[in-house]
Amino acid sequence: MSMCRPFNFSAGPAAMPLEVLEQAAAEMTSWHGCGMGVMEMSHRGKEFISIYEQAEADLRELLAVPPEYRILFMQGGGIAENAIVPLNLSRGGVVDFVVTGGWSQKSAKEAQRYATPHTAASGQASGFTTVPAPASWQLSADAAYLHICSNETIHGVEFHELPDLKALGSDAPLVIDFSSHVLSRPVDWSRVALAFGGAQKNVGPAGVTLVIVREDLLGHALPICPSAFDYKTVADNQSMFNTPPTYAIYMAGLTFQWLKRQREGGLQGVAAMEKRNIAKAELLYGFIDQSGLYVNQVDPTVRSRMNVPFLLRDERLNDAFLAGAKERGLLQLKGHKSVGGMRASIYNAMPIEGVQALVDYMRDFEKERA
Ligand SMILES: *Cc1c(COP(=O)(O)O)cnc(C)c1O
Repeated sequence: MSMCRPFNFSAGPAAMPLEVLEQAAAEMTSWHGCGMGVMEMSHRGKEFISIYEQAEADLRELLAVPPEYRILFMQGGGIAENAIVPLNLSRGGVVDFVVTGGWSQKSAKEAQRYATPHTAASGQASGFTTVPAPASWQLSADAAYLHICSNETIHGVEFHELPDLKALGSDAPLVIDFSSHVLSRPVDWSRVALAFGGAQKNVGPAGVTLVIVREDLLGHALPICPSAFDYKTVADNQSMFNTPPTYAIYMAGLTFQWLKRQREGGLQGVAAMEKRNIAKAELLYGFIDQSGLYVNQVDPTVRSRMNVPFLLRDERLNDAFLAGAKERGLLQLKGHKSVGGMRASIYNAMPIEGVQALVDYMRDFEKERA
């Protein structure tokens, strides 16, 4: 079974690799001949435990997660982590934020409930089209941690290099929200103490949240932290203190296997994906920058490889653009309401052929109106 589908540019929940969906469909009613679908299995049975352990090992391998970091499969998504991180790490004190778009802004706001957030730097004055240089960040001397969103899904701003806090004279652990670019590129763990991300952008279905946390940060939750959200409790119970989102973990595991099979120019896994993602982003931004109709306002040094917001200079054409795109099998290109215009999310599951089809359409649309 293999079919041709439209190209889906949704920001999330987003397109998944067809091979993964087909494998899940084939295993829906009986996983590996056991007579049960994955949704119907006890999370404590040997079948699901093997799925879980494989998924965890594959994620560790794909992202080269060092042994002193624990991998947790939680629930609540990135938005719940906006509370769960300060509940676990803030000790009720000062927490620094670098605000580079809508998601880090939301994180800082939620942290107010449990800690004292301090905005160390903000890109708001530029409409979130730039990232303030790390040397200009006003870091608190006593921050429990520093939070950044390493890829801003709405504003299309990405850190292409994670900040080196030690070089900035800070001992604060770095927390990154990598929801929308996890597994699109390697992670420099020497700079990161905790990374979290919902699955529905680049990994699998909504419902499972990845948390990768350095062991020394466990065990300091505030007394009001719900047990199911205490990282130490979750870690001590192999993410099974409560029933984990079993089917979402299984689907994420299939995506990890798919990623391990990917090859590109002598590279494999995440390195192969990164190479492809760079080529995809260059193709789309390159076209936008030379066009007279489309514009992306983000500083080229911090443009996201995953989420490409763009405006039509004549916004009266927006509806016609979207309708024509749909006719060409290019789906879910409407931009986020806070930015307007269009957004093409080109996650791992989007092949370069999809980006080429979008560019071809954009060129034709522009020509017809010239
Ligand atoms: C989508 C997204 C979230 C929110 O995820 P939920 O699953 O809705 O909680 C948080 N952060 C970033 C960067 C995102 O892209």
